[in-house]
Amino acid sequence: MNFPFFLFNFPTCVGSNLNSTRVPPGSRCIGFHQIRVVSVPPCSQFPPLPSSHVTGRFYIGLAQPATRPRHTAAPYRFSRPPNKTIAFAVLNLLDELGGFQPMNATPDINKLLASIATLNGGPLFRLSADQDLQNKSRFAIYLDTPKLPWMPTHPNFYSESMDALMPASPGMPRLRTLLPPPRPDYFADLGRVRHRRDGVRSINQAANGTSSASRSSSEDFAFAYVKERLHEKRLYRVDRLLSNFLPANLSRKERREMAQSVLLFVSSLAKAIPREKNLLYTMKDLPSFIEMSFTLAQMREKFDFLDWTSIFQEVFNVSDIPDDMTVYVLPPSYFAELGRLLPRFQPSVVHNGLLMIFATDSLLELVDVTDTPDWAIKCTRVTMQVFPKAVGAMYARLWSKEELAALRDNLSKLLDLLKETTVRRLGHLPWLDEESREKALKKVSKIEGRFLAPPKFFNETWVDATLAKMTVDPQDFFGNVIRRFRDARKEMPRISGPPPPVSWAYPFVANAYYDPTSNAVVVPLAMVSDLFAYGVSPRYLWLSQLGNTLAHELMHSFDINGWHFDERGEVSGWMTSDTRVRLTARIQCLVNQYAATFSHSVRLFGRSHSVDFDWNVTSNENLADIGALQVSYDAWKNVVKSHPDMRLPQVDLSPHQLFFVGVAQNYCYEVSDEWYVTMVEIDEHTPFRERVNGMMMNSEGFAEAFKCPPTASLAKFRKCSVW
Ligand SMILES: [Zn+2]
Repeated sequence: MNFPFFLFNFPTCVGSNLNSTRVPPGSRCIGFHQIRVVSVPPCSQFPPLPSSHVTGRFYIGLAQPATRPRHTAAPYRFSRPPNKTIAFAVLNLLDELGGFQPMNATPDINKLLASIATLNGGPLFRLSADQDLQNKSRFAIYLDTPKLPWMPTHPNFYSESMDALMPASPGMPRLRTLLPPPRPDYFADLGRVRHRRDGVRSINQAANGTSSASRSSSEDFAFAYVKERLHEKRLYRVDRLLSNFLPANLSRKERREMAQSVLLFVSSLAKAIPREKNLLYTMKDLPSFIEMSFTLAQMREKFDFLDWTSIFQEVFNVSDIPDDMTVYVLPPSYFAELGRLLPRFQPSVVHNGLLMIFATDSLLELVDVTDTPDWAIKCTRVTMQVFPKAVGAMYARLWSKEELAALRDNLSKLLDLLKETTVRRLGHLPWLDEESREKALKKVSKIEGRFLAPPKFFNETWVDATLAKMTVDPQDFFGNVIRRFRDARKEMPRISGPPPPVSWAYPFVANAYYDPTSNAVVVPLAMVSDLFAYGVSPRYLWLSQLGNTLAHELMHSFDINGWHFDERGEVSGWMTSDTRVRLTARIQCLVNQYAATFSHSVRLFGRSHSVDFDWNVTSNENLADIGALQVSYDAWKNVVKSHPDMRLPQVDLSPHQLFFVGVAQNYCYEVSDEWYVTMVEIDEHTPFRERVNGMMMNSEGFAEAFKCPPTASLAKFRKCSVW
């Protein structure tokens, strides 16, 4: 075929049974993952738990007119907003955290950072505890860069407690890759940013010179432009908040001096954060990840600008942290930069600035939840964030015990089929030497499937116990959320003890993943649905969609990172160095092939702009994609050998062709050009269009099914086959 396969489209989503799922209006067609997310019932339809009405009261609180101020009536004046509004509550909370500090004050920054961290905020860095990758029986502390507005997959949507359930997968900032992409209109009001005369824009530009880690010259122009506009927009919000925050009795001069210093601090800090792409490179695999680990004692010496021991003690609610506690600093260069940046500002400016960042990036989002056209979706998200266990249990109860058993059974059979197919293929791969082949076979045979939801989510007593101690005031949405953030910290397992042995995702998370530390493929309930439970759908649908996704995760057990972990999830280099050299050469084949094939232009700000791809950063995912297509197609062919698959009425395509259409359908999204350039800059996955075409052009099966002439655009390349 001579047209890009990605554009191949149906009037409705393939497999008309997908139509039974609610698809947002205006979406011509929509990807598999997104359907699952949208199908989470909005707040209005959530049933309160029968034994406890805590969550029911929480929803009532969200819907109260008193706690849902219009933006126009809310903040941004030179006086405090009216009592009982969320904006008032935000300012009260800032007061509780130390409030405004005059220029010559010397507040304790360590104490402030710890207090904000207990409220899920991370203005200087994000902080979490998880299994230590080098010693699974211990916790380690993970320090990461703050979340910024150009990272559309917003890790704070789901709370830290969810973080603890995510896989400790090196090579990827965890949550980032597990969430669906943003709505295409994420950047909708870009370009409408208005600049205040007092010079937000000039401060933003001045900050470019304050940080040695400022924009790298190789950063894509279009992305740099998008990022710069978002910087300004954020700074504008900080500026508006400052006008409420600074005390009315300051002189004009004092007000101006403090406002400008805070804005410069906020802007310089944002620019000190390294390029996302550089982070992806530094975290690419286990050895480079380990290089970024320190003991607490080393940490104190190397990054002595903060009192880490007191911060960790406060946040993790322990009186003592051993000196040999492992701390992963992601990446050290950012924290070294902080050491240079912080002393340049008065402690009072740092204090006021951190409060402004916390309010702008975290708290104002809560205000937004109460006043937005897509209130139901945002409300569902914030409810997931504060009550993840209860919402998970409610979600799981949408299915009957029999349906869940059928799902689990079908998933196990599907994973077994894919494992058998992989074993068969491993037997023939010429570039694997016998020693590596034997270990690879062992590893694949031991891959465990962890499906649907942790067993305790089906235990009513446990769910009730998680809600028993909560106080929910229907009149106080903001207070409810803040109390939950604080309580969730206390409910976390003690970092002095052993971490949970296995990782799980909440059932409502619409993403599967491979956990290298336990050699398991984790498939939350939201990834599957009753569609797949009864075996009535065509087999190609089953294998091209869910099967292909599972095969992709399975392939991660053999990727650049996976080869460091053995069949028990222990760190051991099981692949011989000869084989590793040959695998690296095959990956290089992919890098070269993608570079020679793809180019893409976007139209941004009235100009056409050719996108600057980096095929090294996406090679690990492309490797998994190409292997997954081969494995899932092979598995499907085997299944239909004796029972041919059904055809679709009104669609003149063979089941073989429909298989590939089904795979492409997984990545069918409408995306804006701004989103596209941002993903190219920050994501280790290839953008959808090239992702689909890249898989197809490396598939012999695809060329056969569509009888592609050798000159066709997707058939003319030498295939880069790996797994
Ligand atoms: Zn992947």
